[in-house]
Amino acid sequence: MAYQNMKFVREAFLIRSGNGVIASGKGEYAKVDFPFEEHWEVLKTFPPEELCFVHVHPPSFPEFSRMDQTCYKALKRALGGDFAFGLVCFQEEGFVMRFIGSHSAVLPAEDLELLKALSQEEKP
Ligand SMILES: [Zn+2]
Repeated sequence: MAYQNMKFVREAFLIRSGNGVIASGKGEYAKVDFPFEEHWEVLKTFPPEELCFVHVHPPSFPEFSRMDQTCYKALKRALGGDFAFGLVCFQEEGFVMRFIGSHSAVLPAEDLELLKALSQEEKP
């Protein structure tokens, strides 16, 4: 499916460890909540540095919001260490991915496709 026929409709999230995707889902146009509490028992079984939290931002908004920064700091404290916390913007010429803090990650292509599918819909 060509990107040109798709449009951004909502933010989306994905949480992964080195073993695979722990959770993924849809948010709203400019907001998405990571379901930390729902997956806490699983999350805390991993060393923080093996965890990766990525969310989709609307195109042309590749900056971390104040809420993102607060969320990152609180989660770092709760997990007891640093992890990869990133955002991705899908744009016509490709995508922009950024990470906050000292860890970054390379997402497998299928994770990017999943995030794109969760955040976009085909143009009518
Ligand atoms: Zn954000």
